[in-house]
Amino acid sequence: MKKIFAVAAVVTLILTCCGCKALNITKISHVDTAMGTVIQLNIYTTDRENNAEEDMMKLLRQLEEQDLSRRLETSEVWRVNQAAKEEAQIMLSPKLAEILSACLEVWEASQGAFDITVGSVAEVWNIDQWAAGENKGEFVLPETEKLWQALEQSGSEKIQLKDRKLLVQPGMVLDLGAVGKGIALDELLEYLQSKQNITGAIISVGGSVLTYGEKPEGNKWIVGITNPKDTASNIGTLSLEGQWCISTSGDYERYVEIDGVRYHHILNPNTGYPANSGLSGVTVLTKDGFLSDALSTACFVLGEEKGLELAAKYSAEVLFIRQDGSVCMSPGMKDYYRAEKMR
Ligand code: AMP
Ligand code: MG
Repeated sequence: MKKIFAVAAVVTLILTCCGCKALNITKISHVDTAMGTVIQLNIYTTDRENNAEEDMMKLLRQLEEQDLSRRLETSEVWRVNQAAKEEAQIMLSPKLAEILSACLEVWEASQGAFDITVGSVAEVWNIDQWAAGENKGEFVLPETEKLWQALEQSGSEKIQLKDRKLLVQPGMVLDLGAVGKGIALDELLEYLQSKQNITGAIISVGGSVLTYGEKPEGNKWIVGITNPKDTASNIGTLSLEGQWCISTSGDYERYVEIDGVRYHHILNPNTGYPANSGLSGVTVLTKDGFLSDALSTACFVLGEEKGLELAAKYSAEVLFIRQDGSVCMSPGMKDYYRAEKMR
């Protein structure tokens, strides 16, 4: 991650694209960082002075700082986790209550594969920090005892949410890392819809992408799907019209390797170990950002067969990249996917 941050300096470009001039449309391209990842905003607008890129970055930072971060002391999730150390009952804001309720639904539908209470287990592994650090070689596996303790503190069956009252077992740690970027897409979409001068946009928040409106040239939006074996290239693309949310979960995003074994950041809540379902990457296509993100994590844990069933429950399309590099997908995904390289 450090490497990415080093190259992702804040850059804003104002471009005249083919077809833009005649329609009096300006393309704003902005690269930045927020939510612990790289943000790319490409916005087509009839009003260059609209400050859309600044508004959108502010929105993302607020979401992280005020609502979702497990690490920032300013966020509601941090406060909930602090309170959960001792108290059992916590009053949530309407926003967090709605998010947690949606998470519990996906937990149930995925038979526990998606579980926001994996925070205690994620803390024991601390893969995010190891993967971002310079001292990866010093990584040691967590002690089994500690993992068991963390597992005992996790499990959404131990949560109750009624209206806005959250009842948790002491020691439980909530981790919304698997849905934060998807929730960001939903909020950015709402912003775009409120601006008449924005005719189209393609936005990526780390592994989650939002397409909106139209390109001035009338072409489709093209979203590349990362090749897990060579993350600088794509194994294929999705060609999309109008509004979509596309989220990818992969074992190549944050990981450390020892003795040829890869320990990555997507955990199997049953075992407490990084999920090993034969997959390297999962991409989910839906209209809803939260769902695309939640389902991509859940399908990664579940594997191909059960993942297909889960995606079908939500009428979402899904594409799997197996550890051997082969690809399989839901029947509907074939309408959008092309096995061609981009760039
Ligand atoms: P994603 O990249 O969207 O698949 O999300 C991965 C992040 O979600 C991890 O870095 C953890 O913070 C968290 N996480 C890991 N495993 C799970 C899981 N099984 N269910 C829910 N969240 C998880
Ligand atoms: Mg996710």
